[in-house]
Amino acid sequence: MASPVEVRGKDPLEILRRVFGYDEFRGSQREIIDQVVGGGDALVLMPTGGGKSLCYQIPALVRDGVAVVISPLIALMQDQVDALHAVGVRAGFLNSTLDLDIRRMVEAEFRAGEIDLLYLAPEALGSPGTVRLLESGKIALFAIDEAHCVAQWGHDFRPDYLALSMLHERWPDVPRIALTATATTATHEEIATRLDLKDARHFVASFDRPNIQYRIVSKREPRRQLLDLLRTEHAGDAGIVYCLSRASVEKTAEFLVQNGIAALPYHAGLDAGVRAGNQKRFLREDGLIMVATIAFGMGIDKPDVRFVAHLDLPKSVEGYYQETGRAGRDGLPSTAWLAYGLQDVVQQRKLIEGSEGDQAHRRNLAGHLDAMLALCETVECRRGQLLAYFGQAQVEKCGNCDTCLEPPESWDGTIAAQKLLSTVLRLKRERNQKFGAGQSIDILLGRQNEKVVQHGHDSLTVFGIGTELSEAQWRGVVRQLLAQGLLAVEGDYGTLVLTDASAEVLGRQRTVMMRREPERPAAGRTPKQK
Ligand code: ADP
Ligand code: ZN
Repeated sequence: MASPVEVRGKDPLEILRRVFGYDEFRGSQREIIDQVVGGGDALVLMPTGGGKSLCYQIPALVRDGVAVVISPLIALMQDQVDALHAVGVRAGFLNSTLDLDIRRMVEAEFRAGEIDLLYLAPEALGSPGTVRLLESGKIALFAIDEAHCVAQWGHDFRPDYLALSMLHERWPDVPRIALTATATTATHEEIATRLDLKDARHFVASFDRPNIQYRIVSKREPRRQLLDLLRTEHAGDAGIVYCLSRASVEKTAEFLVQNGIAALPYHAGLDAGVRAGNQKRFLREDGLIMVATIAFGMGIDKPDVRFVAHLDLPKSVEGYYQETGRAGRDGLPSTAWLAYGLQDVVQQRKLIEGSEGDQAHRRNLAGHLDAMLALCETVECRRGQLLAYFGQAQVEKCGNCDTCLEPPESWDGTIAAQKLLSTVLRLKRERNQKFGAGQSIDILLGRQNEKVVQHGHDSLTVFGIGTELSEAQWRGVVRQLLAQGLLAVEGDYGTLVLTDASAEVLGRQRTVMMRREPERPAAGRTPKQK
């Protein structure tokens, strides 16, 4: 183990410089550190890469005793502790992966106060042994990392986090600092309530990540579109590609490798050894692409991730923000690219419909999805919309997102919407049938293909009344109607059904504005990075 750091005078700025090698504090780091050093509680909301770690690591060195850091990221504890050892800070961790010998040794170091930080998994606090251990030493502070894991409606909820409210009951005099990169007001309030942080000072940093260029494109041939993005703008760059399913992770990684791009898969179905190995390679080697489910990424500290690409729609804006936030931690220009299509809406709605939990839970999921869809379909600045979602001052035009760089047109899609909705209505009323989007579009385009003729759909009055739009444009219409709740899908085949709001459109009480679909998209490419 490294030798103890000499921290003369225990001045935070001196520690920042001597131990961590940085010149100045960033943002509110100093105020946060002073709050905790002074024995007060803090709730810190700071975007990924903002510098949360120092906010508890420096107080850990200033205050007497050992700082106990609660983190759900067991796979990263070793790395975090190694990084501290590298700068001469004494730290250890306890989790289920440790051998008994090492565990005993770390416990002894904790009791003797020979380390300054002890990392623990939240589930450890459920064991009486760990609680006894903590009671046998002197605790400088509790740091609760990834504190949004306590939010039950959130995307990373961990039941073990709920038990963390006991820290305050058992150790009322030990200051606590809770940290997260998730920023909605609701999550923020939930953290404060559930962790019993009534008297904590709140530190809310700006959530803007100006170096990230946000782009959301129409999904056509997602893997090809991705390849095009990589070749034209990110050759040789490190990046993360998110896919919804394990199967699609594997297929996408294979596809990239076949096309000469260094890519690795990561998902919970892979053998733990393979997973850890791929993660290690991604962190240590240059220019690797990790193709992953959202199981990958929390706590990954790789500064030069140049792009985050989503081949499937994230379930919420929070998720999207967290995942894209892994790009550009070093502050250099980076891309957040999402390919989104009709099928995504159908699939996500289906997942919600089939999800466990009660009605309130499903409604909550649907609300999150709607916000995400609104971000996809907006004709306004994406960054503005993203920040507004987090309740932060809105920017009018950021100049570094696709809608600012290439403003999309909006058009009055009311008539198109009426045609599409009438088709669904007629199939139901006149034939008592339900179909997916493809059949309605074929009918509108007047296509006399087998399925249309077989069902006699060429005799419907709506047959052939939609030739003014292309198939791609019609798919855009369906997608936007779904996104706006003017149409719904049900069942395993994604059949279209009307909603209560559909009637308002059919009854001409409501106009429907839509985003113009590019007729001939350049494989999803938008302007070059500056
Ligand atoms: P977060 O946990 O908020 O995502 P980290 O604590 O991992 O962020 O910090 C992100 C990066 O910024 C790290 O490489 C860290 O060393 C660096 N950093 C943090 N504070 C400062 C500072 N005051 N000056 C320079 N670099 C800093
Ligand atoms: Zn913008």
